[in-house]
Amino acid sequence: MEELVARLAKTEAAIQSLVAGQADAVVDPRTGAIVLLREAQQAVQESQARYHRLITHLSAIIFELAPDGTVLFVNDAIETATRYTPAGLMGKSVPDIFFPGEQRCRWDAAYRAVQKGDLTNYEMVLAGKDGTPAVLEVSTANRYKDGALERIIGFAINITARKHAEEKLRQAAVVFERTPNAIMVADSERRVMSVNQAFVRITGYAPEDVIGKNPRFHQSGRQGSGFYQEMWERLEKTGEWQGEIWNRRKNGDIYPAWEHISAVTDKDGHVTNYISVFSDISVIKESEAKLDYLAHHDTLTGAANRSLLAVRLDNAMQRSKRRNERFALLYIDLDRFKSINDMYGHDYGDQVLKIVSERIQSSIREEDMLARIGGDEFVVIMETLAEPHDAALLAEKIIEATSKPIILEGRDLLTSVSLGISVYPDDGTKGEDLINAADAAMYSGKQQGRATYQFSSAELTKRALEYFSLQNQLRHALLAGEFSVHYQPQVSLATGQLVGVEALARWRYPDGPPPEKFIPVAEDIGLIDAIGEWVLQTACTDVAAVREQAHASLRLAVNVSGRQVMRNRIVERVPAILAETHVQAGTLELEITESVLQDARGVETLQELRALGVHLAIDDFGTGYSSLSQLKHMPIDTLKIDQSFVHDLPDNPDSRAIAAAIIGMAHTLDLRVVAEGVETQEQLQFLRDQGCDEAQGHFVSPPLLPADLRRFVQAHRSA
Ligand code: C2E
Ligand code: MG
Ligand code: MG
Repeated sequence: MEELVARLAKTEAAIQSLVAGQADAVVDPRTGAIVLLREAQQAVQESQARYHRLITHLSAIIFELAPDGTVLFVNDAIETATRYTPAGLMGKSVPDIFFPGEQRCRWDAAYRAVQKGDLTNYEMVLAGKDGTPAVLEVSTANRYKDGALERIIGFAINITARKHAEEKLRQAAVVFERTPNAIMVADSERRVMSVNQAFVRITGYAPEDVIGKNPRFHQSGRQGSGFYQEMWERLEKTGEWQGEIWNRRKNGDIYPAWEHISAVTDKDGHVTNYISVFSDISVIKESEAKLDYLAHHDTLTGAANRSLLAVRLDNAMQRSKRRNERFALLYIDLDRFKSINDMYGHDYGDQVLKIVSERIQSSIREEDMLARIGGDEFVVIMETLAEPHDAALLAEKIIEATSKPIILEGRDLLTSVSLGISVYPDDGTKGEDLINAADAAMYSGKQQGRATYQFSSAELTKRALEYFSLQNQLRHALLAGEFSVHYQPQVSLATGQLVGVEALARWRYPDGPPPEKFIPVAEDIGLIDAIGEWVLQTACTDVAAVREQAHASLRLAVNVSGRQVMRNRIVERVPAILAETHVQAGTLELEITESVLQDARGVETLQELRALGVHLAIDDFGTGYSSLSQLKHMPIDTLKIDQSFVHDLPDNPDSRAIAAAIIGMAHTLDLRVVAEGVETQEQLQFLRDQGCDEAQGHFVSPPLLPADLRRFVQAHRSA
């Protein structure tokens, strides 16, 4: 202890002499080393400089405040945070540069706590020199002297950027959750990573249902794989895709969505995420459809209006032109509508119109269109018109439907309509022309009486009337025994031998209409099965008798309508009739037309027929669409060259080429060829030279009555 006191005294003395500038060096009392004073001073200076450099270049803010908050010291780092230089802040009080508003109140309170030393770590928002906020995370320590606060020293970190980022993230999270659009984020492997509340609401899927899955789960199946392929191709190419898409909810409902998908890439351009944002647009679609409907329909009757009619007429004309078809326009006018309105009032008249419109609507087919173009005027477009009389049939149907009494408000009202019919392209190739022509026809028809229809051209009216009268007569013809069958011989071109006959139907022979006229009508009214079966039965019976008498083996060819094949009843009737008449299936050949080959069901029926053992021939070959290569796979035995080609033989080079080609190719397919309509020796010679197998025509013999056929057979045998 004494030694310690002595050392202290020595040190004291050394310090005294140093302070007084009396010594250059002192001896370290503890180690006894000599310390040069200048060196010591230098060391102090160096350490100060180091300290200064440190403070200056430190990115943290270091400060010293007076107890009232006046800035006593602050380092350069404050400038980056607040744009104030340290000198600029000197003498300012911290509360003076608080960011205004709520922050200020909060910090006033906080500052009191700082002064007391209760608060040492806190956030503080200052207003920078340019007014922008600077958020600082501050730590302070208080220094006291004699129990009173002397200094507040501390350091602060500028966390403004971090705060901004945090705020942005928070906002993004709010947007993600609150937006009415569904959002789905997937990783680069297209696995769902997160979905928002709107996604859950729209799709019905909970996040746990979908996370980790491929978004395929909500595909509707309405769009083919090509659609999705294009979508991904576009995404890969441009980083974006948007469009309308049908999605499926968890409950299975399909809904239209407007979807925007973007690919998020990293700095190297690799996809890291896919973000898909979509909204359910079913409501929009519905209202669009509703608006569209309202814009194109008459509100009273729900029929199309004039503007939609114009569009549909244009479409119908384009389609018909392309397919080389006709269509009809029916102009319908309610008879005496004006007096109904006058007598019972407009509301009543409206109800009548509504009912009439419903009745017309239920008379037409789905593909036809009804429009209301005036108070009591309607138009029907009837497409795919096989024959003009189809339009007449529809007109009759509409007249019948609208002639039934209307019972309305206790009144029995008798109404009727008058119609005018125009046909595209016969009566015009512009919509307006067709409407006007039908209107004029309707008007001229009305002069002759109500509840009628009239074609725009007299020729068509005549044809339609003929058709209906034919229809009526045909219904009774079979029972009245007005049909007969004639037989036309077919001879072998190689031997000249009679090899077969073709049965041809006759009605009211010799003055009645030819089969070309009555067969299509019989098809239309469903009589073709009955007539066809009667012909088959009669022919089998007749030919069996001829064969017996003449001891000849004759093949019998019978024409079969395409409708009969399509209806399939023929597959049961043929074996039944063969059995009844004791005719071998192998001696019967059924002639069908090319159109049957275009229909898969038709071909099936042909196969069934062939399986019965009967032969099949294609009639009028060359006029339809079938190709020889197609025939390869068909269950047929014979081709009949259409008479239109035979007619121009042998002079017309086209016909020559066609006939030769048919014969040559038929033989490579192992088919027999029969030429029909052979009228001259030259035609016969040409066909024989080409290797055609058989011929039939007036040059050989016209179709014969059964008795004449027997004579022909006998004469032929003896010849
Ligand atoms: P198709 O089967 O091609 O019959 C040949 C037609 O050519 C027959 O007319 C026949 O009388 C006629 N014809 C025969 N030789 C000559 C000739 O040298 N020159 C000319 N210009 N014509 C000749 P048809 O009997 O008036 O029959 C017309 C069409 O009616 C037939 O054509 C056939 O498609 C159909 N048809 C006739 N009978 C029936 C039947 O029973 N059922 C069905 N579904 N159709 C029949
Ligand atoms: Mg025939
Ligand atoms: Mg023919």
